[in-house]
Amino acid sequence: MGDKNNILKIESQLQQGVKMVAMIAPSFVVDFQYPSIINKLCKLGFDKSVELTFGAKMINREYHKKLKKAKELVIATACPGIVNSIKNKYPQYVKNLILVDSPVVAMGKICRREYPKHKLVFISPCDFKKTEIENSEYIDYVIDYEQLKELFKKNKIVKNNCPILFNKFYNDYTKIYPLAGGLGKTANLKGILKQEEILALDGIKKVFKFLDNPNPKIKFLDVLFCVGGCIGGPKTTKKLTIPQKRKKVLDYLKKAKDEDIPEDRKGLIEKAKGIKFSGKCWFSK
Ligand code: SF4
Repeated sequence: MGDKNNILKIESQLQQGVKMVAMIAPSFVVDFQYPSIINKLCKLGFDKSVELTFGAKMINREYHKKLKKAKELVIATACPGIVNSIKNKYPQYVKNLILVDSPVVAMGKICRREYPKHKLVFISPCDFKKTEIENSEYIDYVIDYEQLKELFKKNKIVKNNCPILFNKFYNDYTKIYPLAGGLGKTANLKGILKQEEILALDGIKKVFKFLDNPNPKIKFLDVLFCVGGCIGGPKTTKKLTIPQKRKKVLDYLKKAKDEDIPEDRKGLIEKAKGIKFSGKCWFSK
């Protein structure tokens, strides 16, 4: 792994007061409590915390636009594990991968504009995402859930009087993105595709099986490498089953829908005005 995953460097910068934004994948709820994680991140020294759900909302809009024009199978994924597997094993399908940013890169672009002097730190459920970050100019550092737990365990408190709300860019419905089929369910595909043209697959074996023998009726393939989706990521807890993890995400979504979030903290589309979320991806290099 490259220098962006240098945990000692990140820890030391937090303690020196370097301003950093914690960017959290919504699968975090399988390993951490909400909202206390926000408070704990602030105590560690993070100046701001945001979730990736607003980035997911923005890239869904891109998928929507591109699908309207698509003439052949679209493989939709925010998962670098899928991208790598297709590149290595099924290069004939690389053309079917849509050049749309992942939620983390989309949020990186949004946060670079919102917090231009901060370092951006992504908190990840897996190592594949670390590879993506190593190749992205929009994110400065990455740590995984296990590494964050280690930092919390050390309990080196840098700040007090910490909040329990994400600083900006709240979005509720895309909180199901880390679940199998979450992208397709939130991308508003009604009117563009029929239900029988959409297929969600989780677990790389099922994806390979489909690609070995594709069903020509499928026009939109929503795929994730891990069984269960990102909630089954290798750096997530092994103590819960996939149905238990799934329930945690759905409970979180329910809670978010009832939360009273101030307008200036919401992920409103105009906040990303002028930012391009498609056309070039790390995997297209
Ligand atoms: S599905 Fe697994 S490998 Fe892919 S991004 Fe999610 S956690 Fe990482």
